[in-house]
Amino acid sequence: MAYLCKDCSYRGIKSGQLGECPACGSRNLARRTLTFQEQPRPTKWRLVALVVLWGFLIALIIGKIVH
Ligand SMILES: [Zn+2]
Repeated sequence: MAYLCKDCSYRGIKSGQLGECPACGSRNLARRTLTFQEQPRPTKWRLVALVVLWGFLIALIIGKIVH
């Protein structure tokens, strides 16, 4: 089960004790079954690839400076 707050767009597995939004306290929560597919994942991998690429580039530059 996942919760989606319609007021502050909070998303999480947990809700408050009375079923309210833990972020803003609103009761305007939509309950839904977990669907991880709806969140786009490639952005995370793109970020990792970018960091690795930059690390490689910096290592290459440092290697050229040292030698
Ligand atoms: Zn909220």
